[in-house]
Amino acid sequence: MIPYGKQSIDQDDIDSVVRALRSPKITQGPLIDGFEAKLAHQCGARYAVAVSTGTAALHLAALALGLKKGDEVLTTPISFLATSNAALYVGAKPVFCDVDYATANISVLCLQKLIARSRIKAIFPVHFGGLPCDMPSIHKLAQKRDLFVVEDACHALGARYKSNGSWFKVGSCAHSDMAVFSFHPVKHITTGEGGAITTNSRKLYEKLLSLRSHGVVRTPALSRRMGPWYYAMTDLGFNYRLTDIQAALGISQLQKLDAFVKRRREIAALYDQAFKKLSGVQTPLDLKDRINVYHLYPLRIDFKQIGLSRTEFMSKLQNLGVGSQVHYIPIYTQPYYRRLGYRSNCPEAEHYYADTLSLPIFFEMTHREVHKVIQVVKGLLAGALEV
Ligand SMILES: *Cc1c(COP(=O)(O)O)cnc(C)c1O
Repeated sequence: MIPYGKQSIDQDDIDSVVRALRSPKITQGPLIDGFEAKLAHQCGARYAVAVSTGTAALHLAALALGLKKGDEVLTTPISFLATSNAALYVGAKPVFCDVDYATANISVLCLQKLIARSRIKAIFPVHFGGLPCDMPSIHKLAQKRDLFVVEDACHALGARYKSNGSWFKVGSCAHSDMAVFSFHPVKHITTGEGGAITTNSRKLYEKLLSLRSHGVVRTPALSRRMGPWYYAMTDLGFNYRLTDIQAALGISQLQKLDAFVKRRREIAALYDQAFKKLSGVQTPLDLKDRINVYHLYPLRIDFKQIGLSRTEFMSKLQNLGVGSQVHYIPIYTQPYYRRLGYRSNCPEAEHYYADTLSLPIFFEMTHREVHKVIQVVKGLLAGALEV
């Protein structure tokens, strides 16, 4: 069975973790600083804060901005639940903005309409599947109303976009206050579980460091005044720390990011080539001014036209050894959100949801496996495969 995504761990990763296990500090040690420095450098941001999951990273970003009850956050329904849940965690209200069908990224036109709401304090765009959102436009809109921007970049480590002739890295926070990453095994690099926030703001950085560890601060000035043991709890924080064991894996994985991205782009190019001209399907966009890093390869299929439901199509794929997945169910349709009173308000997102199916894409996929997926998908689309 070819899964839709999977991690890639080599001997260097294993050696790096073993060394960490034998070191004096397996948590709160020097490898965390090392991982953060490398990640900040990779993204071109001043600071990075490593945390236990991408979800924790989103939660801390919302807390660090001081979002609270009465505030609203504009975000997309086509994402993993954690994006909008982060607003709920701090008592704020997610307001769902429709997406562009072609990219499944948040629609700037729709943002323009919703931005007049008086309680909006922040925008949480998601670089869906690894294709960067139109950050310069989102940033410009946010500035008009003095809104914060937090990029959910969990799909987009290594992605770039062009604006006014210059290229920007996702995570550089050139057009946002913070960017959030996940290192879950299906993402570009993994630490088992893990996440991080990048920012260029010293103030947000210090707040995030403190919130990651119980809202506690320790400074030389405090120690001199109160005693060497002293720490002060200034906020209600959490234990959202990453371990040094995980950071060791992160450092080792980060060295391979370019190769990981390159292979994903190769696979996507092969799929594009194979599927582009078929009727009833649409391949994901790879725009000239953006580098899509293909966390996912979501194919859009007109299931009516091909005469199979998505359930039938998926189970036939499964029987032929090809895993697939749907990314994502519009968040506001979830029972919890329905109970909160959310109703369907994003027709493009629902149209997208009805058509999408993610095909396998991961670093270790062999040429043979890619070829197999292509043959199977083409065969099913042509009604030529009996399963
Ligand atoms: C994976 C993911 C998250 C959550 O990350 P975890 O590390 O699993 O907590 C949040 N947002 C998006 C878009 C993701 O893909």
